Amino acid sequence: MSIVYLNGEYLPMEEARISPMDRGFLFGEGIYEVIPSYDGKLVGFGPHIERMEQGMALISIQSGYGEADWRTLCETLIEQNGSGNLGIYLHVSRGADSRRYHAYPENIAPTVFAFAFEIPPAPVADKDKVKAYKVASTQDLRWKRCNIKSTALLGNVMHFQEGHAAGHNEIILYNAQGEMTEGSACNAYIVKDGVVITPPLDNQILPGITRLILLDILRKDGSIPVEERIVTMDEVRNADEVWLTSSSKEIAPVIELDGVPVADGKVGDVWVKAQALYTAGKYNY
Ligand code: PMP
Repeated sequence: MSIVYLNGEYLPMEEARISPMDRGFLFGEGIYEVIPSYDGKLVGFGPHIERMEQGMALISIQSGYGEADWRTLCETLIEQNGSGNLGIYLHVSRGADSRRYHAYPENIAPTVFAFAFEIPPAPVADKDKVKAYKVASTQDLRWKRCNIKSTALLGNVMHFQEGHAAGHNEIILYNAQGEMTEGSACNAYIVKDGVVITPPLDNQILPGITRLILLDILRKDGSIPVEERIVTMDEVRNADEVWLTSSSKEIAPVIELDGVPVADGKVGDVWVKAQALYTAGKYNY
């Protein structure tokens, strides 16, 4: 039985109730986070909360929760749900209004919901053990505010489904200029001549926390150069390695794109090194 958090209470998932007038339900109007936790240890708690606060500020939602409240909430969910490999989902929507009207209503209380779900074990830096991804690509048809971690994920869901229907578990997106943006639920990278290259942060991509941690770890280590710059799909198709990152998968190597092997179709050496560095450093964030 999973114990969830809803507006100040911990209760069985089956007993959690929200109003159908909640603007999270009617408009997809909310902000969310997923924070990974392995054996009770959270990865990137501070940056995750900061991103969520920034998202809420952008849409003028005040949760009234401080960092210590969020930490207690996460730790309680871990305690209540067993401390294996968990994703802690945090969700703040604007709340329930008495009518359906687009303008932000005043004086309604936000809905704060959280639950824990199982995520795969963190990858180990071993070419033979890692789950390698085969993905498709398609034009990114989402909105122009992809930097906001909005609960309105229809654009992402439709893209993910496109990949899923074609037998893949991710899809790489590119803009009208043929430049890679990100995956439907992850950030994207190439490796060329030993350099890790990923698109810069702007309104076309989510500022991923795994991305933030990975780039910081790589820069501090210094042995693998990193560039944040535009990456064309031609470069992706000619890359030595392609990676995806997200909180629940860490760094995932991609070995096939649109039915064509990435380089020799095998997991690359730079991935092994980067994943080893990530494994060693991730709990410092
Ligand atoms: N981009 C998108 C569209 C995402 O949904 C996610 C998270 N699933 C990411 C990037 C990766 O973000 P994070 O590393 O914070 O999980």
